[in-house]
Amino acid sequence: MSAQVEFAWPLIGHEKIKKFLQAGVVERRLAQTYLFYGPEKVGKTTLAKYLAKTVFCASFAEYNKLSNILTDSASLSKLPCGTCESCQQFDRGIYPEFYLVEREINEKTEELRQNITINQVRELQNKLNKRSFSDSYKVAIIRGAETLTKEASNALLKTLEEPTPKTILILLTTAREIILETIQSRSQNLQFLPVTRKEIEAYLISKGLARSQADEIASLAQGRPTIALKYLENQDIVKEQLVESEKWLELLAQNNQGKLKAAEKIVQGKPSIDSLIKGLTSFSIVLRDLLLVQAGQLDLITFRELIPVMQQSVKEKMDLDLTKLLQRIEQAKVQLKQNVNARLILENLFLNI
Ligand SMILES: [Zn+2]
Repeated sequence: MSAQVEFAWPLIGHEKIKKFLQAGVVERRLAQTYLFYGPEKVGKTTLAKYLAKTVFCASFAEYNKLSNILTDSASLSKLPCGTCESCQQFDRGIYPEFYLVEREINEKTEELRQNITINQVRELQNKLNKRSFSDSYKVAIIRGAETLTKEASNALLKTLEEPTPKTILILLTTAREIILETIQSRSQNLQFLPVTRKEIEAYLISKGLARSQADEIASLAQGRPTIALKYLENQDIVKEQLVESEKWLELLAQNNQGKLKAAEKIVQGKPSIDSLIKGLTSFSIVLRDLLLVQAGQLDLITFRELIPVMQQSVKEKMDLDLTKLLQRIEQAKVQLKQNVNARLILENLFLNI
């Protein structure tokens, strides 16, 4: 059996995927292409970067030169080591054989492009085809792979069909069904699920948060560790969410005229689509809490200070189908992404409350 290698991959959740990839590292049987799929902000990029940093690390390079994995893994202590030149370069974002491809800003409009373009893929291919001076691994992460244009996907497929040694491609996507089937079938597919509240909470407590605080943040994160870390870093955001929650609860108590006014007020500030979607997500958080109030599970509520208001709200809104409303919110988000008129979407949604 191979010796125990300590992996410095401090990821919240995804134990199975982590173990699978780590075994691939130790047993030197890494795939050429991985497809990480699952919801946003659960840790796909973080894990992809750990894998990249690990194969770049000098300790791994040494290990890779040895021939017998059964005895040689004893030479591995910690991966990535965090101290070698490669690790340091990687941390500073200047490791020469690491490539991150994602949608770029259009310089003319200063807006994020809708797609990853074929030029970006070609540029990546040129870099991957160049010989590495240091005989290093090359790793490319393609983030938001569902936004690859058709031409870009087909070009990428060529790279997948003609693998070069010591090259790893990691495609990240929230919508695997949009990825070319031929790409899917040539990749090692790994599904990321939302992380349990318990796992997030345990992590936050290990970082020194009091249980009540950890509980609040874990609840707000809704299975997305990246969001939890953001809250951990900046606890003011938690307060902002509390204010947001109060606003949404007020909206629930409004009559139709008040709801239309609220929709108008929101679009008046010409918010970006992203910020509208963020707002709707905070509405979902409130509704999930209301469901918990309905079910009498008060210990799971995000903001305990809002429990009395929520109980009142549930009493007044006996007929409101919260589950259906949550679905409507998800539909509204999709429509926003499709550039349907924001005011219409909000009015429609609010009048259904
Ligand atoms: Zn290292």
